[in-house]
Amino acid sequence: MADGADLRLVNLTKRFGIFTAVDDLSLTIPQGGFFALLGASGCGKTTTLRMVAGLEEPTSGQVLLGGQDIARLRPYKRPVNTVFQSYALFPHLDVFENVAFGLRRRGVRDIAAQVGRMLSLVQLDGYDKRRPAQLSGGQQQRVALARALINHPQVLLLDEPLGALDLKLRRQMQIELKRIQTEVGLTFVHVTHDQEEAMTMADTVAVMNAGRIEQLGAPAEIYEFPATPFVANFLGQSNLLAGEVAGRSADEVVVSAYGSRFSLPAARCRAASGDIYLGVRPEKLHLAPSAEAVPAGHQWIAGVVSDSSYVGVSTQYLVRTSWGTELSAFSSNAGVHAQLPLGAQVVAYWRPEHAFLLAREAGAG
Ligand code: ATP
Repeated sequence: MADGADLRLVNLTKRFGIFTAVDDLSLTIPQGGFFALLGASGCGKTTTLRMVAGLEEPTSGQVLLGGQDIARLRPYKRPVNTVFQSYALFPHLDVFENVAFGLRRRGVRDIAAQVGRMLSLVQLDGYDKRRPAQLSGGQQQRVALARALINHPQVLLLDEPLGALDLKLRRQMQIELKRIQTEVGLTFVHVTHDQEEAMTMADTVAVMNAGRIEQLGAPAEIYEFPATPFVANFLGQSNLLAGEVAGRSADEVVVSAYGSRFSLPAARCRAASGDIYLGVRPEKLHLAPSAEAVPAGHQWIAGVVSDSSYVGVSTQYLVRTSWGTELSAFSSNAGVHAQLPLGAQVVAYWRPEHAFLLAREAGAG
């Protein structure tokens, strides 16, 4: 892919009065990728997207597309289109005319074939004469997508585009959007607060917090090896055990937590000294009746089952340690085995390479 059409945000900042919504943000979005900006409400993701679209002027910084700074171009002069959660279709025009709108405005002739191709792409063949009011929410969203894609933008911005859909339709559209992105090969920048949505669709996810990027990486990378306590907590559940680094060698770090020592491979450690969190995801934590039953090569903490929730594919247990910390463990129900009763003495164990180590001061825990 041509490096020239990468989208680069350079020291991008947006202040509203004394409030900084986007704080010196720099990142590169490679051409042709599916990029997600993920964060809680108010973290600045929509403001970032609006600065790329031209709907908000940056206080400072650059928006570079193919090396050209587009930050101060009017929205319609940018090779960028946006799909909003609200669809914003023209209610009085049928599907065909909604999709054809951009082409007509530019005086393009022979539009029928192009509109037809777009309607096929979003799987709306045969719907061209319907009005938006005669379509479901998912179908309206597809029309909005076709209307944006027909202009052949270099970058398609999607601002919570699936937010108004019910859960089942949302899941369907996630797969559909990914398929369409692969088919057209355009850069998609998708804003969402839904971590599952970001992880399902994007090749690269940027986790935002308070106007800054906390971590950027492939979904598996940020889930398996979060950079900060904020990311560890924002993406799914995490058991974060507070402790201190007690020693280290070239390939191992030893930590002391809750009166025990645990070691991790150095490659799983983002801190090598001081106050840390030892993190283990709930699905990486297994339960055994006693320390003798823990397989070799694992590390463990003893506790008592304090809560359990049966959720079909798995059971979620809470294990209270003698320090009062509660650990969460997902136990698969794939095999046939009895559920553990409340109050059962157990040992929670994990493989050292499945844990991760974070500096305690890195981000809000
Ligand atoms: P959401 O998911 O709720 O849309 P977001 O992460 O997209 O949240 P933004 O809409 O970018 O967040 O807003 C970031 C912060 O900037 C918020 O605290 C918001 O109140 C503030 N903000 C946004 N637009 C303005 C504005 N025009 N004037 C003042 N403050 C604003």
